Amino acid sequence: MNAAQINVVNLQFIAVVLAAILTVAWRNFARPQHAAVWACAYGVAFVAWFVNFVMLTFFTANPYFFTAIAILTCTSNALIAVGYLQRAGNERAWVPIYAGLTLATAALVAFAVVYPHRGLRDATWLCFSGVMLAVSAANVTSSIRTATTPERATVVMLVLFAALDFVVAGMGLRQGVDGGGGDLAAFRLTLILLYPPAFVGVGLATVFLVAADLAERMRSLAVSDLLTGIFNRRGFEEAAERAIRNAQRQRQPLALVVTDIDRFKAVNDRYGHNAGDRAIKHFATRMERMVRRGDLVGRVGGEEFALLLINTNASDALDVVERIRRDVSAMPVAGPEGIALTASFGVTGLRPGDTSLASMFARADRALYRSKVEGRDRVTCAEVMEEAAGGAKALTGDIA
Ligand code: GH3
Ligand code: MG
Ligand code: MG
Repeated sequence: MNAAQINVVNLQFIAVVLAAILTVAWRNFARPQHAAVWACAYGVAFVAWFVNFVMLTFFTANPYFFTAIAILTCTSNALIAVGYLQRAGNERAWVPIYAGLTLATAALVAFAVVYPHRGLRDATWLCFSGVMLAVSAANVTSSIRTATTPERATVVMLVLFAALDFVVAGMGLRQGVDGGGGDLAAFRLTLILLYPPAFVGVGLATVFLVAADLAERMRSLAVSDLLTGIFNRRGFEEAAERAIRNAQRQRQPLALVVTDIDRFKAVNDRYGHNAGDRAIKHFATRMERMVRRGDLVGRVGGEEFALLLINTNASDALDVVERIRRDVSAMPVAGPEGIALTASFGVTGLRPGDTSLASMFARADRALYRSKVEGRDRVTCAEVMEEAAGGAKALTGDIA
């Protein structure tokens, strides 16, 4: 075997391994459709390298083989782009991509077989592949500022490989009609030396991204409540501790609200557990809709919830919570039963001595308890409660 054949055989193995890893990722990790599409992309890449090997071994520079390899390579890159678009949530992405692929295929057949032109033929498959990788890079993340490290690494790999495709396309174009123009040796050497590492780099980045997405999914599952989709107790506590540290450092206000649905046992008893679950979901959704982006909403117990209102003091929080209370009591749970809910609330603001969530939670809980004993469906502010108690104490002291 000569060097070119060995190169192509190696790339076949790599394509098979990448296709296999992506298939396993698809089968075992919640079947994300884009992982299946990427597995197909590397399956097609394997076929392209295999046909390439057959051509190198038995049919050197046969235009039909060459056209087949170029079309397969374009297809593989188109599938990579479709996968990236799907991962970004663009389900109709395949329409313009496959339209482009059809055009590229027509151009390849034209320049390889009908009106032979080596420069245009090579520039076509390289440019199309470059465009597909650029489209992929543009869809890895909606904002590079908030991108994760694996996403950034993937963007870098895709941009490098796209740039390489465009540079080599330029070199290829200079070959002219029959390969006489330009520097054919430099074109071939660049292709043989740089194409394999770039191919492997993009494949590894793609696999790495699937793994990173999975890790992120697991992390987010560990901190979310299955029924409502909001934070669970652990997630709320972790996020709240961070927010409290930030607020103390930047001397910004913060308010904690705890709430418990009133007489919920009766809801379960009367309408059944499933309707109770729907009521819990309904309650979580109403609250989530009524707070600002960036505020934290968590389900910290069966029908107990907590809110952390960022950059909000206790008295502003009281207004927000009063609005939530009214909204909840005015809006029955959707469904045939028309369940009416009310809830009781306890509110407290961040104080200079609060270094963790625990002390705020204890105060808000006491205020919530007061709301319950005073008749439910109401909001109590810990600060107001303490002020009143302080006043009462002072009064008692005066009398004594
Ligand atoms: P109170 O006004 O004093 O809060 O009365 P309550 O009946 O709501 O009393 P409590 O808060 O102690 O009771 C909570 C009930 O919520 C008990 C439990 O059966 C029910 N519950 C807890 N988690 C779930 C859940 O996930 N789904 C359903 N359907 N019910 C739940
Ligand atoms: Mg309750
Ligand atoms: Mg409760």
